[in-house]
Amino acid sequence: MFDNLVKWSRVKSPWVYHLNSGSCNGCDIEILAALMPRFDAERFGVKLQGTPRHADVIVATGPVTAQLKERVIRIYEQVPEPKFVVACGQCAISGAIFEGAYAVEGGIDKVIPVNAYIPGCPPKPEAILDGVVKLLNSIKEG
Ligand code: SF4
Repeated sequence: MFDNLVKWSRVKSPWVYHLNSGSCNGCDIEILAALMPRFDAERFGVKLQGTPRHADVIVATGPVTAQLKERVIRIYEQVPEPKFVVACGQCAISGAIFEGAYAVEGGIDKVIPVNAYIPGCPPKPEAILDGVVKLLNSIKEG
């Protein structure tokens, strides 16, 4: 019963931590657009959090640079269980144009587990919302 209540509240109000591990900022601007009133991610209960310790979902942008790798792992470990990671944009998915660069480790799933991928360079706010809603539906279905 209590587990169902926790699951229900998590699906109805996922708190999101936005992590940029080396993005060019294109994806970050689209995430901000998705959170603003025009696209209104709050209608799905999505709330941006300033700390990973209070978040349910990490929305990650950019490839993981060698400099940020340890911090990405530390931030992931700070999010309480159960936690979910969304890779937002081609760079977060695979490293894209930065793949093979001497200071780039690759996509975010080279460093931490990823639950959902949102393609695009950058993905539109509609695509970001679609990805978040699909993730919420998959959490709901268990
Ligand atoms: S996917 Fe495109 S917009 Fe997003 S960080 Fe990479 S290069 Fe920038």
